[in-house]
Amino acid sequence: MGGKTAPKYRVLMCSSEAVPYAKTGGLADAVSALSLALAKLGHEVRIVMPRYYGINRDKLVKLEGALGVPLGGGEEWCAVYTTDLPESGKKNPVRVYFIDHENFFGRDGIYGVPSEPDFLDNPRRFAFFCRSCFQVCRKLDWYPDVIHAHDWPAALVPVMLRYGERRGASGEFPETAGSFAGAASVLTIHNLGYQGIYSKDNFPSTNLGWDVFYQAGFDDWDMMNFLKAGINTADKLNTVSPNYARETLTPAHGFRRDGNLRWRGADYTGILNGIDTSVWNPRLDRFIPLPFSTGDMGGKAKAKEALRRRYGLPDADGPMLGMVCRLTEQKGVGALFGPGYGSAWSICKDMNLQFVFLGSGEGWAEHEIAGLASRLPNFKARVGYDEELSHLIEAGSDFFLMPSLYEPCGLNQMYSLAYGTLPIARNTGGLADTIQNYNQETGEGTGFMFDDLTPQAIYNTVGWAVWAWYNKPEHIEAMRRRGMEQDFSWSRSARKYAELYRSALQGR
Ligand code: ADP
Repeated sequence: MGGKTAPKYRVLMCSSEAVPYAKTGGLADAVSALSLALAKLGHEVRIVMPRYYGINRDKLVKLEGALGVPLGGGEEWCAVYTTDLPESGKKNPVRVYFIDHENFFGRDGIYGVPSEPDFLDNPRRFAFFCRSCFQVCRKLDWYPDVIHAHDWPAALVPVMLRYGERRGASGEFPETAGSFAGAASVLTIHNLGYQGIYSKDNFPSTNLGWDVFYQAGFDDWDMMNFLKAGINTADKLNTVSPNYARETLTPAHGFRRDGNLRWRGADYTGILNGIDTSVWNPRLDRFIPLPFSTGDMGGKAKAKEALRRRYGLPDADGPMLGMVCRLTEQKGVGALFGPGYGSAWSICKDMNLQFVFLGSGEGWAEHEIAGLASRLPNFKARVGYDEELSHLIEAGSDFFLMPSLYEPCGLNQMYSLAYGTLPIARNTGGLADTIQNYNQETGEGTGFMFDDLTPQAIYNTVGWAVWAWYNKPEHIEAMRRRGMEQDFSWSRSARKYAELYRSALQGR
């Protein structure tokens, strides 16, 4: 007998975002990268997402005929467009289907616009989107083994599957009723902080009965909570790192959902996101002056020089500390840059290093950072978003700072490790899964970690790293190498998702 080959699944990804079409955060990267990695493993993956105003229809192919979607006791009609995800292979491409509904999605903004950050009709828009995921399959006469929903905007998909669609309840194509009978659902939580909580007056849009409102646990202080119902009903669910999965079971990190998640027990796990190793790879990076690898680290020194020039810093023999992030509370910027007590000032004053920052966000922090940069000769900052510069910072720094309050997965620490840049990070979420703390006796580890989010702890840990840089260069070299040799590719994560699909189908 030959060896057993792993089963191949048909997977329908339901997501409000996917690169390169629509992105507000890491969700968009993860959905596309995971789909491509699953296709490479031989699974048949299709993505359904809304056709927002900014997505150019001219580059897409329109499916013949309109699509009817039951909504709120009536029916809405839309068009469906399709294309293949760029970079997908010819043999087994990842096909994307766009739900084109002028009234719901033909406007600026994915969830809102600055003047209306959360569109008033979002519950109706995303109830419509979730139902359309089933109707597209019926139109295509293509039925998935696994329906994989992402975050609150798609969280009604598992609920609809369980309460109706498995029996073919939406009624539009009665001849194919029951074609979801064998399907299992998986829900991935990329950010537990957003749950889709709206007045329950909107509930009729879901076309689910009021009995389901209570059975699925939509109820949230007399409101309706999309994600909560998804958590309660998906066959399996996960978040984007094992440690964050454990943390979210506690009231401190659970955003009021820790009880629901604990109730799901072993159905809830963590799978680490991957990184795009064709883009974030020191051997291939086109944004750095010279490629480098563990075999030839010359390019890293060149990147450090280029980074100094970019920021107008003088030559120096000390280490370079880099940081790239959104300036929000989640990233720990209060303890680092907070007026009066933040640690950035004393770090730059007391230590022989250079510190470069890239990021934008809350006004007070941008203001504080500009003030520091004007008073400290060894601290420079660029306020804004700059993809190219972020590559140079990852490549040219010796250390990378991430004092996050919480971090579901975190990408920057993985980029850092891949570029031989040692993370200095708080021991939380995905950071704890991806970084091993330095042991100064043995030289083991890949980074420097601390527990408390206080200016003192950040100061002490940066001090520890700088001490090692000057006093234990052989440890630093070995740590760089260890980090660069780690595998953070999506193919590793995709195998784990395939495993999750298998258990979802078994446990259904
Ligand atoms: P989060 O999704 O919470 O912001 P992650 O670490 O998971 O944090 O991912 C953030 C991504 O956005 C990283 O790739 C990071 O380099 C990038 N990024 C954040 N701010 C900037 C910026 N100002 N310029 C360029 N890239 C940025």
